[in-house]
Parts: sequence; C-alpha cells; structure tokens
Amino acid sequence: MRITCLVFGIAVACGCSLVSAQEKPGLPDGPAHPIVLHAARLFDVETGKIVTPGEVLVEDKRITAAGTSVPHPAGAETIDLGDTTLMPGLIDAHVHLFLHPGAEDLQTVVESVPQRTILATLAAKADLMAGFTAERDMGTEGAGSADTAVMRAINEGLIPGPRLRISGNAISILGGHEDAIHYNPAQHVLSNADYANDAEQIVETIREQHKEGSTFVKIYETGPDEMVGPGERSPGPCWGDKYLCAENQLGEQAGDPEFWNFHTPYQYTEAQLEAAVREAARLGTNVGVHDQGEPGAYIAAMAGVASIDHATQLSEKTMEIMKAKQIPAVPTFTIFEYFADHAPSPAAAARERAMLDYKIHEFKRQVAAGIPFAVGSDVGPFPHGTQARELELMVKYGMTPAAALQADYLNGARILTWQNEVGQLKPGYYADVIAVPGNPLEDITAVERVSFVMKGGVIYRK
Ligand SMILES: [Zn+2]
Repeated sequence: MRITCLVFGIAVACGCSLVSAQEKPGLPDGPAHPIVLHAARLFDVETGKIVTPGEVLVEDKRITAAGTSVPHPAGAETIDLGDTTLMPGLIDAHVHLFLHPGAEDLQTVVESVPQRTILATLAAKADLMAGFTAERDMGTEGAGSADTAVMRAINEGLIPGPRLRISGNAISILGGHEDAIHYNPAQHVLSNADYANDAEQIVETIREQHKEGSTFVKIYETGPDEMVGPGERSPGPCWGDKYLCAENQLGEQAGDPEFWNFHTPYQYTEAQLEAAVREAARLGTNVGVHDQGEPGAYIAAMAGVASIDHATQLSEKTMEIMKAKQIPAVPTFTIFEYFADHAPSPAAAARERAMLDYKIHEFKRQVAAGIPFAVGSDVGPFPHGTQARELELMVKYGMTPAAALQADYLNGARILTWQNEVGQLKPGYYADVIAVPGNPLEDITAVERVSFVMKGGVIYRK
C-alpha cells in the first residue's frame, strides 16, 4: 500500500493525474486479515464502566465485535496487550495544528504558510501517537486553508494523523479578537482570522472557506478578556455590555458574588451568529465558537452553536439553554495552566493564575449545574502530543474519570458530527482503538501514557 501512496504522490507532483481524486488510491487499507485485540480491561463508553477482560475484533477498517470476548475467525491475528485497558481513540475537540510553543503572534508573522504546514504535519503525527485519533482543528491562525492539504494528506494515507474536522482560518470582526491591532498600521500586518462584519459577510466567508475545503466553522464570539485586579470593584453585570445583559436578565448569579469580576466583550449579535449556524447547517456542518463569557455565551447558546469553547463564565440562564439544547462547554484548562506556568513576567503570571482560579471556581459551578462538556485542550501553544492532561485537569477540578471520558467520546464525536463512526468500541464504528496501562477510572493520568494506537484498523503504535 505504501508503494501505491508514493506512486500517487509522484503522479500528483507531475501534474498528471492518473486516478480520480474520488478514488483516493492511497487511503490506508485496514489489515489484510482480522485482528483480535485482547487486554486485561475494556472501557465501555456507554455505561462508563470497565469490563474484564476486554476484546475487540477488527475487520478491515471497522470494529465487528467488542466486549469481554469476541469471535476469533479463522486466520485472525491475536494481539495481547497485557495489563492495559482498551478504549476508543481519544477525541480532542479543540486543537491548533498550525501553532507550536512560542510567541503566537510572531509565529504567524515570521513563519511562511509552507513552513507552518510542515510543522502542522508533525503536530498531527504527535497527536495521533499520543492516542488522539479524531480532532477538530479550531483555526489555522493565519494559514488560511492550508489545513485542507494536511487533512487530505492524512485521508490519502500519505502522512500519519488523526481524522480531522477543519475550519481554515477562524472568522472574526474587523479590529476584533485575532486582528493585528498592536502593530504599526503602516505595516498592514494581517489578521489571523478572516474578517466578517455582518450576517451577509459571515455567509460569504463561510462559503469561501467551504470552497477551499473547510468542514466546519470556527467563529470568535468574544474579544480580549479582562479581570478586576486585587482590591478593585467589578463594574457589574457584563461591564460595558450592560444593556444587553439587562435586556436578557443575565444579572446577579445566586451564591457567586465574584461572577462579574471577569469580562469579555461580545463580537457578533444573535442574528449574525444565527446566520452562521444556518449557513453551516446548509453545508451539513456546524459552528464552534471561541467564547469566554457573557453576554457572548448567552448569544451563542441562543443562536444554537455546536459548542462553547473556553466557556470560562456562563450565567445560570446560559447554562439552562445549554442543557436544553445539549450544547457542550469545552473548558480548555491545559492552555490556561500552560500560560500561567510560562508567563513572561511575575505580573503576567499572577494575572494568568487569577484567570485560572476564576475558571476553576466557575467550572465547579458548571459541573454542579449539569451542563454537557466536551474535551478540548487548545494544544499548539503548548507541545502537541501532551494534551491528554486536559482529562486529568477536568477530573482534578470536579468531574469523575468516567464522566470526563464520556464527555470526550460522546460529546466529542457529536460536535465533530461523527457520532455513529467514532468514540465507542461498537460494531460498525471505525477501528480507532488505544490501550492505556492500568485502569483509567482509578487513575485518569493513564490516558497520558498511551501504549497502543490503532486508527481505521492500521496500527500506528505498539
Ligand atoms: Zn483555540
């Protein structure tokens, strides 16, 4: 199969297309013979329980049986993974393949898109080897539709990487989040997002991104975040957006006097975000938003986005809507922790730490409210392949290991619109299977030590 890939690669490079792209001749085949994976345990996603022992039968790219024992067809190869737990491949619902550790703004200014694309292929490999077999890339941050090339190279079997949902650049307003507002205007430094300033422009931008290969829509719904400093008083509900807050009764939050110590301005109105949601639906996909808090979170929930990412500040009213519409919050703790631990100055570290403390406090309230969650790390600014720490942090701050894993698998698959394809070890699902040492329900950090990775029946790590 590898030889076929190389031949196809050369054919494309010569510009002489020998085979139609639809046929995808390089698409990795599953194994030539059935494989039975055997381990001490298997995590049953639906029940949230461990069964012992665990077996998965893989034929071609798919799972045909899973449980405590499976049929062993003639000619099947049995792989005994010993004292490990079989689980579906992990899902990271918020990654940036086109970012690496270092100053984020300068990466996008200094590094060319081809250079960034090469790094993105290495990031995709690192994530896969860490057990992430499906990911949602939440914006290339100025690399436009270069993610289309990465996704297609993975799908055609040319490079290893997770199954990807991609958005191209994210969408933001002129002068908003991700715009290059701190540079000399005479230098015309580009935004890291595509501009759209009203509903019509949003729809046009989504169509342009779709034409270039995007498979979902990423929108910045809130702008730069602020917190009141020590000894300062909060300006009250929604700060400068107080009229919107009052209209929608997002005021006092029972038992949470510090709720309005945090503020982030909203960017799009409900009608504008709803136009995005409708256009995405027309294209068979959905919208994920960068959304740190109110009133942007309320607007996004009302508009019916697929997920609210970062979700640092959610009012009681917003959480009610998220529960009713089953819109997951994606907390992205790992990036907040990383920024707090790697701040350029003690003052910056104190600000980042205060933000993380606020976030932890609010997360506990969100867990108690019973809203759905998905797992997304925001990896990129911290090293690819290390993001399973997100599950550890979600458990540390209030979820059970089983609930965090179910959030990863079930809600992750749903917001990536692969809910009947990935995220469970069930007949008919893709054979995306990992093994971790020991029992992840007793020690969630097991997911940071993945010892076996299979995607679509192909073994990448053993
Ligand atoms: Zn992000």
